[in-house]
Amino acid sequence: MERSASRQSRKKVVAVVGGGLVGALNACFFAKRGLDVELFESREDIRRAKIVKGRSINLALSHRGRQALKHVGLEEKIVAQGIPMHARMIHSLDGKQSPIPYGRKGQYILSVDRANLNKELLTAAETYPNTKMNFDHKLQDWNAETGLMTFVRLDGSKEQVKADLIVGCDGAFSAVRKQFLRLSRFDYSQTYIPHGYMELTMPPINGEFAMKPNYLHIWPRNTFMMIALPNLDKTFTCTLFMPFEDFEKITTGDEVIEFFQKYFPDTIPLIGADTLQRDYFRLPAQAMVSVKCNPYHIGDTCVLMGDAAHAVVPFYGQGMNAGFEDCIVFDEIMDQFNEDFSAVLPEYTRVRVPDDHAIADLAMYNYIEMRAHVNSKWFIFRKYVDNI
Ligand code: FAD
Repeated sequence: MERSASRQSRKKVVAVVGGGLVGALNACFFAKRGLDVELFESREDIRRAKIVKGRSINLALSHRGRQALKHVGLEEKIVAQGIPMHARMIHSLDGKQSPIPYGRKGQYILSVDRANLNKELLTAAETYPNTKMNFDHKLQDWNAETGLMTFVRLDGSKEQVKADLIVGCDGAFSAVRKQFLRLSRFDYSQTYIPHGYMELTMPPINGEFAMKPNYLHIWPRNTFMMIALPNLDKTFTCTLFMPFEDFEKITTGDEVIEFFQKYFPDTIPLIGADTLQRDYFRLPAQAMVSVKCNPYHIGDTCVLMGDAAHAVVPFYGQGMNAGFEDCIVFDEIMDQFNEDFSAVLPEYTRVRVPDDHAIADLAMYNYIEMRAHVNSKWFIFRKYVDNI
């Protein structure tokens, strides 16, 4: 069956592929300007799902992300559900904790729950009468000449849909982006870093946070590190970033404890030795990829945003934030060019590619900064503080 995406008026129809963080927010942006929006998401509706699969449990929301939420009236609501983190808290090997502020007094980033944020954004998108949600719709392929998209539904049946604009927000392994690879003069690079990541939960102690909550805790150990962000249920999600070959060296519960005893001794009583031994082997370490490409558009029919355009390594805490900023930048260019896609799309590529590539480079730089340089900077800072 072939259909045109729902057309309730003579307005242009936008198909947003991917209902993750950036896709769901983007649907709000397009719907707010009155365009007819159809969102297609391969997963079931996560608001009804028992288990929400995905990447990090929580993430850091910062200024550029908040600005985008503000545009669609969601900033206050999301900020109220986040936990402010005013500084990094550096844990040295001897157990000493030392804060390094993120900015001036009163400035902070927020720890937010990924699944909850995604749910809020989907609900917000759905409140617009000109938005239609299609869950369990996986984009299989699309034709760059005709703009015809083929989706596979849960029961294996296929649906073909056409829209005026296809917005690829389908993440780092984007199916929308696959068509770009066939084009001449499309630059593309993908780099896996040697590190993987593993998430561990630090439970509350006597109903309270086990560590000071308003910090992003970091245990920098030069070639690897662990970080911890607070959650509303008073747990911390600890993320261990380490080369895959080091993860693979640890094969027994005793080795896990030995490793933590050597590098993160203060966390063993807080996470619990039994929990640690169990959770370390629950899931294998996950890979991290950095993707750069250029251009972000094809003609006047398709544009990439979020991780589909620029997956970055997570050490700068800016992947989602940059994806949210993509939505504002696109929105502003839509105003500038009176929603003429043939002018908006190339301008978006022109303006956005250099900025997103810069974020990707900064994230790669911070990959070393967080696990190693922070140690030496802290050393200088501590000497300075000790001297005043
Ligand atoms: P995704 O979140 O990947 O969403 C893509 C959506 O598309 C998914 O819902 C998927 O199911 C759907 N989809 C995929 N393929 C198809 C298809 N063929 N058809 C239909 N739908 C499809 N960023 C920050 O700003 N701050 C942080 O602190 C931070 N921490 C991070 C920590 C870790 C460990 C990791 C891995 C990432 C972190 N990030 C952080 C980055 C952030 O997770 C991403 O930048 C963000 O999720 C990008 O959102 P997105 O919507 O573009 O892609």
